[in-house]
Amino acid sequence: MKAYRLTEFGKPLEVSNGPTPSPHGTEVLLKVSAAGICHSDIHIWEGGYNIGHGKTYNVGERGGVALPVTMGHETAGVALQAGPEAGPVALGRQYLVFPWIGCGECAVCLAGDEHYCGKPRSLGIYRDGGYAEYMLVPHSRYLLDLDGLDPVTTAPYACSGLTAYSALKKAGDVIRNERIVIIGAGGVGLMGLTLLRALDGIGAVVVDVSEEKRQAALAAGAMAAVDGRASDAVKQIARAIGSRPRFVVDFVGSEDTAALAFDAVAKGGKMVIVGLFGGAAPWSLPMIPLKAVTIQGSYVGNLAELRELMELVRRQRVTPIPITRAPLDHADQMLGSLREGKVVGRVVLTP
Ligand SMILES: [Zn+2]
Ligand SMILES: [Zn+2]
Repeated sequence: MKAYRLTEFGKPLEVSNGPTPSPHGTEVLLKVSAAGICHSDIHIWEGGYNIGHGKTYNVGERGGVALPVTMGHETAGVALQAGPEAGPVALGRQYLVFPWIGCGECAVCLAGDEHYCGKPRSLGIYRDGGYAEYMLVPHSRYLLDLDGLDPVTTAPYACSGLTAYSALKKAGDVIRNERIVIIGAGGVGLMGLTLLRALDGIGAVVVDVSEEKRQAALAAGAMAAVDGRASDAVKQIARAIGSRPRFVVDFVGSEDTAALAFDAVAKGGKMVIVGLFGGAAPWSLPMIPLKAVTIQGSYVGNLAELRELMELVRRQRVTPIPITRAPLDHADQMLGSLREGKVVGRVVLTP
């Protein structure tokens, strides 16, 4: 089978033509229908995160990612073959793959939070993912029946959708009573806007430094769009909200956006950092207690949240974000376009 694999950090993906794997034990073999290219794939490809103070978090040595690996953690596909202990799976049906898999045995995994497991087995990061014609999933419990939903528009829910959903849930009831702020109108930010509406949210003011992305946010239903680089961005945000926001979600995660989120958020409010752009915390320590701000991180989401999300998508007929379809052979080229910031919405490979 054909797969586009990361064999060396920072180098073009290499095509491989190895044998199609057979499912053993609890495994299920899928024929990939759709594989979204996610921004976090760029960090994996680069091999590191900028953690500020001139340091880099090494994805290989420190993160434990072993190469070669086939990236792609936003995957939908048809179940072809199941191992003898795979559990219930309907061969021939389209499934969405939950990729944030842990060891399955520790207390964290047993509590349902496999995405926090200390021994991660995430598909497309630690195990081979969807930039391929076929893919193995460790167990049928990680498969969500698409039941008629389009695999191409649904695949991104496994990461960007789940990430946006889990971040918005951390706002609690605030989203239903007040306007919130979404920083970053890339794939996840636009998904956040869409899901906010599905969750009966009042609405959001979107911040982005790109005019094109601000326009995309307005087209996707943002109440206002603010240029984060404007010297009066905090004032513009407060004016658009009617007061200071009580919830700000930062889908960029740079020093600039974290500083803006902190300055903009109301006393007693909450900011959630999701994006992995990088840098060091830019806040003054005494201002954290003086503003009584909650600063929370959010990393993808758990299996139960992905099930809730798919139920919401189905019930509310959530509008998909703009999708560019590309053949599997364009995997490396499309990863490059995303890296250069040329992609609005999401690129999905369709092997
Ligand atoms: Zn992702
Ligand atoms: Zn575990």
